[in-house]
Amino acid sequence: MLYNDKSIVFLDGKYIKAKDAQISLYSQTLHYGNGVVEGIRAYETDNGTQIFKAVEHFERLRYSAQRMMIDSFDYSNEKLEHIAYTLLEKNNLKNAYIRPMIFLGDAAGLVSVETCHLFMGVFKWAKYHGTKPLDVMISSYRRPHPDSYPVDAKVNGVYVNSILAATEAKRKGFGEAILLDHQGFLAQAPGANLFIEKDGKLYTPPKGSILPGITRQTIMDLVKQKGETEVEEKWLKPEDLQKADAAFLTGTAAEIAMIKSIDGLPLKSKSKNSISLRIAEAYSDTLRTVFAPNYTII
Ligand code: PMP
Repeated sequence: MLYNDKSIVFLDGKYIKAKDAQISLYSQTLHYGNGVVEGIRAYETDNGTQIFKAVEHFERLRYSAQRMMIDSFDYSNEKLEHIAYTLLEKNNLKNAYIRPMIFLGDAAGLVSVETCHLFMGVFKWAKYHGTKPLDVMISSYRRPHPDSYPVDAKVNGVYVNSILAATEAKRKGFGEAILLDHQGFLAQAPGANLFIEKDGKLYTPPKGSILPGITRQTIMDLVKQKGETEVEEKWLKPEDLQKADAAFLTGTAAEIAMIKSIDGLPLKSKSKNSISLRIAEAYSDTLRTVFAPNYTII
């Protein structure tokens, strides 16, 4: 359940009950997917509830809008952050997923509509893949070609690609899909980025056809800080994943999800000794420490 009778959402300048919110059935976003979204998490820390990487997420929302030629969107990062914290307070949530969406006005045609709307909702959401390591499959679907749309933007309609890959994997009994890019290199999961560990080093697919996640960047920064190993951005083949010592997915919803097997073949998974596991622990520690000292509403 994403909302109940009491849930408050933000819609175009007003805080209203989710159950009372109304949007047009002719929105271009509903029909053709022309809109942009974000996925953000807030965590309870020693200094109250704080939004993790708020600036990075709201900046990406504005960037996505700009790449999709949604020129009328004019909320600042500060305003967006304020709305998100207000929603957490109004809904009395200490740990939450925050979903902003810029959706467009009415159109039957295919030219981007001038008017845009801002929705933001908050809800409880457990780690997307749970805590158990995942059995993944190499998807029969590929990430869209980078020339087909701005792949580093979070565009509503493009998520049909993710939904097909994830649903195919579920129906075949797997926990998640891994999509290749148009050239056959490893790209990412439907809503998360991929890291593999081999001989004490981490590798991740470079920018190109992936959505370069904020969690991915956080992991790269953490690895650098720890100085124990390094992350190389490298074009990787499915065989590299199959021969990896360990592998994991990263994303705001998933946080870190370890991979157990690929297409039914188990990974070596050096368990306690793996760098990946230590990085996963360091990441969850980061989420519980104070990272935005200026904001403490709850
Ligand atoms: N790829 C896709 C397609 C996603 O939707 C997400 C989630 N936003 C990610 C990767 C991971 O990005 P982030 O770490 O910024 O959540």
